[in-house]
Parts: sequence; structure tokens; C-alpha cells
Amino acid sequence: MSIFIDENICNGCKGLPEARCERICPGDLCYRKENMKAAIRDQSACWTCACCVKECPVQAIELKLPFQVCSSGASLKARLKRDKTIWTIRDADGHQEEFIIQAKCLKGDT
Ligand code: SF4
Ligand code: SF4
Repeated sequence: MSIFIDENICNGCKGLPEARCERICPGDLCYRKENMKAAIRDQSACWTCACCVKECPVQAIELKLPFQVCSSGASLKARLKRDKTIWTIRDADGHQEEFIIQAKCLKGDT
């Protein structure tokens, strides 16, 4: 599996001092280039935790799935909501399916 960042979608987190993908990556692998577009320092060091995929506010980051898991060319994107994460899996032919993972604990819950 690998991470792909679409530079046409990435807005550099609109100049935030630290981009959301930079802040969330446990391996410190995400960074912004001079043009403020995000990139991955070293794909081989990425353990595909998908934190950056969920954290990106404009869905610029996707997880490329290996053919052993899904059909060739399939990828996974996420939209993070307060109470759930909406995952979209898309195959090489453009067919896509959504599945929702509900949050187990919301901020402020006791
Ligand atoms: S998938 Fe995880 S380890 Fe890989 S770049 Fe994203 S946040 Fe970092
Ligand atoms: S979180 Fe998304 S929009 Fe922000 S810098 Fe990273 S890829 Fe770009």
C-alpha cells in the first residue's frame, strides 16, 4: 500500500503554520514543499496508518490498495465528520462505494 497526494486538490492547508497532515503523521513523513503542496518524505517508511488520509480537510490524500486486497488500481479516501468517518473505496474503473465507521467516543462525552 502507498499514499498518494493529489497536488491539484491539496491547498497546503491554506498556509497554516503546520499542515494537518504534517501534524498528524506519527512518522513525521508529511511535509509541504516550497509551493505549499504536501508530499511524503519516504514512502518506504510509511506504515499506511491512514491518519493523514482521514485528517486532510479536502480529501487530497488517498491510500492506494494492493491488488491482493482489492482490484488493481483501487484506492481509499476518507471524510472525517464529528461522529463518523466516511470511507470511499474506488476501483480503477471509477466504481465507488462508501462505508461509514461511527465514532465510538465523541469529544465532550463522558
Ligand atoms: S499513512 Fe500514516 S505513516 Fe503514512 S504518511 Fe500518512 S500519517 Fe504518515
Ligand atoms: S492536509 Fe491535505 S490540504 Fe493540508 S497540506 Fe496536507 S494534503 Fe494538503
